[in-house]
Amino acid sequence: MPAHGRPTLARRLAGSAWTLLWLCVLGACLLWAWQHPATQRARFTWELARSPAPETLPVPVQGVEAGRIADTWGAPRDSDRSHEGLDIFAPRGTPVTSTTRGIVTAVRDRGLGGRQVWVRGPGNESHYYAHLDHWAPGLAAGDMVEAGTVLGTVGNTGNARTTPPHLHYGIYGPGGASNPLPRLLATAPPPSPP
Ligand SMILES: [Zn+2]
Repeated sequence: MPAHGRPTLARRLAGSAWTLLWLCVLGACLLWAWQHPATQRARFTWELARSPAPETLPVPVQGVEAGRIADTWGAPRDSDRSHEGLDIFAPRGTPVTSTTRGIVTAVRDRGLGGRQVWVRGPGNESHYYAHLDHWAPGLAAGDMVEAGTVLGTVGNTGNARTTPPHLHYGIYGPGGASNPLPRLLATAPPPSPP
């Protein structure tokens, strides 16, 4: 019966068109979700956690050579505290840059560290940048940063009020705090022969 042929074909075409439309909508939704900042952050966090902790790190204060940094790690502090970081002295306002890629976990003004930034980097290590004069404009928890991203400027906030401006830089890994200096020195260029 040829009379039935045409409506069936039209119905099939309409069905295919609907299927195609739904696939397009689904595709658009998946693309949107994939590119959504929350998804990107989740992917980045996962990637960071799986990456090994870097063996070498750049100096987080612009213009400072690793070889000129005094090893202040473990120096005694008041009562039973010891210094769990490095003090990197530089003029007030010198840019402080992230040593690794990572996610900013805190931007706050609190306690001994004063104005501080925390970055969760590769290998489940948290990087602590303290005594900042100012934070980088607009920097906020949840931001994704690269090595070299400016986090703030050198200052003497917190318990550094009575000392010359410096960055207190600390690294806290799964095994506790570690001295950043060996890794900063590992990136320093070898001394030129006499
Ligand atoms: Zn310090």
